[in-house]
Amino acid sequence: MLMSLNPWGESQIDDYDRVCKEFGIEEIDEEITGKMKDNRFFRRRIIFGHRDFGNILKAVDAGKPWAVMSGIKPSGAFHLGTFTTASEIVELQKMGGKAYYCIADIESWQDNGIPYEESASTAIDNLADILAVGLDPERAYIWRQSQEPTVKSTPYFVSKGVTNNMLRAIYGEHQFGLYLSALVQVADILLPQLREYPMPTVVPVGIDQDPHIRLTRDLTRKYYQKKHGFFLPGATYHRLLEGLDGSDKMSKRNPNSYFTFEENEKTIKRKLQNALTGGRDTLQEQRDKGGRPAMCMIHKLLTYHFLQDDKKLMEIYEECKAGNLLCGECKKFAIDTVLSYVRDHGTRKKKLLPTARKILDLDE
Ligand code: SF4
Repeated sequence: MLMSLNPWGESQIDDYDRVCKEFGIEEIDEEITGKMKDNRFFRRRIIFGHRDFGNILKAVDAGKPWAVMSGIKPSGAFHLGTFTTASEIVELQKMGGKAYYCIADIESWQDNGIPYEESASTAIDNLADILAVGLDPERAYIWRQSQEPTVKSTPYFVSKGVTNNMLRAIYGEHQFGLYLSALVQVADILLPQLREYPMPTVVPVGIDQDPHIRLTRDLTRKYYQKKHGFFLPGATYHRLLEGLDGSDKMSKRNPNSYFTFEENEKTIKRKLQNALTGGRDTLQEQRDKGGRPAMCMIHKLLTYHFLQDDKKLMEIYEECKAGNLLCGECKKFAIDTVLSYVRDHGTRKKKLLPTARKILDLDE
């Protein structure tokens, strides 16, 4: 099967080991897993690969500064897909990283045709969501691409080292504006070092965003590493969460494949009830053969986000496989757990909307 990574569209990934080999991504070894055992994305093997994460661990050990950079495209309500990177930046900030969080409104215009004035209100909403997930704004730098001078000027500087062939090789064929927004993302990723000083930076991403990381590293090598002592920005890569309904990926074109945190409880409940499980055709068959939690979206949701208790998670896995736990009971537990989280998130978010407005300088 052909493997392709497209940050703006469909990516095809059949084998994560092959992705690592093909794109030069390092695997997560025992040492990293041991040091990162407090982080569920590493502990639960959701993060499967990295580039230069060793530099972050060295900085942590030496008590030196390091940064974690991520962002969101303000093109719609906060949803399950964006929840993963949001949670990852929060976890890494807690570990001591300086958080840099970008509102990618230039990309939102290029990719989705949303004018800045429109994406501004979505940006407030999205930022309140990530604050509700736990980002500490006192230890974070947050910007809108369209309003950040360094982010807007850097693409002119680095584009001297970029050719059409290079962009096509990394991204495939796209409209020019998307290439331009890729150069803006290079600036976003370099912003911790451009704004402050050279320091290791990690960007937690889904594997489909790797082209941005490769382009940024190429251009850092060319213009910033030798001359300015910059670190090549590193990354961690998580497995992409498939669609709730069993489709290959969560997609706006298929509303049953995901839910947003703005949807009402009834809709979220319905989507979870209809989610793909690893259950068998009949109750008797499930009791006899056991379920298949590894292919179950309910179990994946609990693993990625909604169940913090490892012991309980393992118990569900084992009891399912043994045929002692049936999908009805298991789904009820998952639905209660997810809805309780979403409800609490909504309460926290409401209180944080004024803070988000203030940070983005979009006070009404
Ligand atoms: S029992 Fe739970 S984990 Fe097992 S297949 Fe059913 S829903 Fe999934």
